[in-house]
Amino acid sequence: MRWELSSRGVQPLAASCEELRERILELKKKRKALILAHNYQTLDIQEIADFVGDSLQLARKSAESEGYEMVVFAGVRFMAEMAAVLSPDVPVYIPDPGALCPLAAYLTGEKVAAKKEEYPDAPVVVYVNTTADAKSKTDYICTSGSAIEIVKSIGAERVLFGPDANLADYVREHTDVEIIDLDERGHCYVHDKFDVEMILELKKKYPDAIAIAHPECPIEVQHAADVVGSTGMMANFVAQSDAKVFLIATEMGMVEQLQKAHPDKKILPVYEGAVCRQMKKHTLEKILHVLEEMPEENLVTVPEEHVPHIRQVLEEMNKVKGQGPAKAVSART
Ligand code: SF4
Repeated sequence: MRWELSSRGVQPLAASCEELRERILELKKKRKALILAHNYQTLDIQEIADFVGDSLQLARKSAESEGYEMVVFAGVRFMAEMAAVLSPDVPVYIPDPGALCPLAAYLTGEKVAAKKEEYPDAPVVVYVNTTADAKSKTDYICTSGSAIEIVKSIGAERVLFGPDANLADYVREHTDVEIIDLDERGHCYVHDKFDVEMILELKKKYPDAIAIAHPECPIEVQHAADVVGSTGMMANFVAQSDAKVFLIATEMGMVEQLQKAHPDKKILPVYEGAVCRQMKKHTLEKILHVLEEMPEENLVTVPEEHVPHIRQVLEEMNKVKGQGPAKAVSART
């Protein structure tokens, strides 16, 4: 440890980003750690990760990867819980244990069970953005990229769906199934900030731009966009499109990632204030701390009694391919 004299007295010398990176990569190798980072992480974290993706891709990665002895999951807690269920033989750590998704907090297992009693014939589909408690009571799990396909594949006339009411609207529009909200108030505070005017204003300035919105955005915003899809779909769409300007309606980490991957294209945020404070709780320092100390409080576990059911529904979800973007503008792509 090196020290410096500051106005607060003698303090440990803050490591530079480069030093932190090197120490993380060295320890990662020594500990045989798999680092998974969600698309909404800052670029410095994305750069040291073994894999960056959306929740479906990360869930698959934790199930498929071999030869590692610990997982460090830079995402919100429900994502790390899925890795803990799918990789039961290795410990899963979260760099900041307080990284909780407020959308997930809308649904408890008790609420799911109560709604099931009200509609006994309707299967339950929960979005991955839920706690292990809510997942333990569901019949199916979906991501934003697989929601349409999963709901269609069930073959039921009516489905209970939640907690995201905007994603429920998206599924309602793209299937013939009656979708009943598990909680009509459920929303992601980051995606709920987008409005139609933001897209229209940018379109005036960039008339040839393609606007892509996440299905957690309000339905009017989805209508105003040219393409609607998960972050995984956004990455594929931008990579395959010949268009030069894209307006992105999702969290800023994804906008930064796309711009870095496509320096020849202009990737513009629809709203710069779309920042998930929970995702951004993770830092390189916290990742290093977890690799160094493997602290008990950063270990993510799921109650033993919930594990078999959650594993089964997650494995079913992982078999579904997931759809391409809904409402793509093929003429310009
Ligand atoms: S962006 Fe929204 S849904 Fe995603 S983790 Fe943050 S609050 Fe939850």
